[in-house]
Amino acid sequence: MGLNRPVIFLGPPGAGKGTQAKRVSACYHVPHLSTGDMLREHVRQGTLLGRAAKPIMDRGDLVPDDVVLGMVEERIARPDSAGGFVFDGFPRTIPQAQKLDEILRKRSFASPLVVNFRVSNDTLVHRVSGRWVCSVGGEIYNIYEHPPQKPGFCDHDGGVLVQRSDDHADVVRERLVAFAQQTQPLIDYYRAKGDLDEVDGAAGVEEVSRRLHEVLARHGVDGNCAQG
Ligand SMILES: [Zn+2]
Repeated sequence: MGLNRPVIFLGPPGAGKGTQAKRVSACYHVPHLSTGDMLREHVRQGTLLGRAAKPIMDRGDLVPDDVVLGMVEERIARPDSAGGFVFDGFPRTIPQAQKLDEILRKRSFASPLVVNFRVSNDTLVHRVSGRWVCSVGGEIYNIYEHPPQKPGFCDHDGGVLVQRSDDHADVVRERLVAFAQQTQPLIDYYRAKGDLDEVDGAAGVEEVSRRLHEVLARHGVDGNCAQG
């Protein structure tokens, strides 16, 4: 059980890293960590960090690194993190990565294995712009991969399906360009340390899962876990 080193998944929105992080989390019995979830938990519980973050989030601003890293440090100090963890979409910048390295060293964790999910922009635009959400129950459909039985309406409650403005193709494409620019230095940083590998995220969920386990095994992350 557990991972012998922390794992970090990087990749653009729509690359499927969240789905794979959930699977690795279930398979190895390690927590799946995202800073978005951490922020929401701290705000809900009214912790000091949560109270620092809330007004900033309410304004729609980016929560500063010291608050985010404070949450990360607190989270990986909990007992359920002792067997490793999977970070999904964190860190985002080199200063965050350097601070995370410091925290991991302090807690005697091995250096993280970073897996970059590679998917072409065309595939991502296709995936994300196919996403429609039920206006009643919030169910998510993809008109290409998981279409509703009756076009435009939810299978569960008949609600009208709507597309979030963020998911329009031109908005998605702009966001991907910005993401690539922001993330490239981070990828270079981990590659220079020898901690980076890649997985082709363009295939289906099962195939990506299989390839991901090969990558983990190649880097000495114990591959013995019941998949499912
Ligand atoms: Zn619905």
